[in-house]
Amino acid sequence: MAELVFFSGTMDCGKSTLALQMDHNHSARGRVGLIFTKMDRAGSNVLSSRLGLSRGALEVSDDLDLWEAVVHCATAGRRVDYLVCDEAQFYSAAQVEQLARVVDEMDVDVFAFGITADFRTELFPGSKRLLELADRVQVLQVEALCWCGRRATTNARVVDGAMVVEGEQVVVGDTKSGQSGVVEYEVLCRRHYMRRMTAHAARSAALSPEVLPFDLDVCALPPRPITQSE
Ligand SMILES: [Zn+2]
Repeated sequence: MAELVFFSGTMDCGKSTLALQMDHNHSARGRVGLIFTKMDRAGSNVLSSRLGLSRGALEVSDDLDLWEAVVHCATAGRRVDYLVCDEAQFYSAAQVEQLARVVDEMDVDVFAFGITADFRTELFPGSKRLLELADRVQVLQVEALCWCGRRATTNARVVDGAMVVEGEQVVVGDTKSGQSGVVEYEVLCRRHYMRRMTAHAARSAALSPEVLPFDLDVCALPPRPITQSE
């Protein structure tokens, strides 16, 4: 019986590496799969991991119907046993529903990999639908670590060196986009996310004469609490 499985985690937890490993394991057993991704850091039509591995993939555009795409392959005589879907947080809710249909009606396994929440700690639409529909949700065991050494559970957005909690939901990192400056992401534990304490801010505070290094946590409270409306 085919399954829709959602492998979730933060950035830096090795999702893309596992996606490539999953493809390798299944193809080594003689199964045939299709690999999809969207806005991979290495560009279009490629699935890459931070460890340096990469391979070709089909790019999921906003208007791609994943059900149609798989039916098209099958009709053309191509065997499809499984799909590996990376960066699934960026897929639309409708595309996740198409994946569920592929599982149920074509008996094709779907292994989706994605970040659950965005830089505001709100669910991405694709991840939300996956959490709702998946047969299994597996939280990845390779834990990303905050600069303080705690388990990182959030992805902070840093623009021109400063952490932000407002803005477009999707801005790909390591890019300079128009007025918004250089966008980077940093994984943080919840405590340091709430205090907007990135590694850089922590270092600056440690160098400041008014702040004792061991008081970092209590000295870094943001001016006001973070609310849903931000
Ligand atoms: Zn921390």
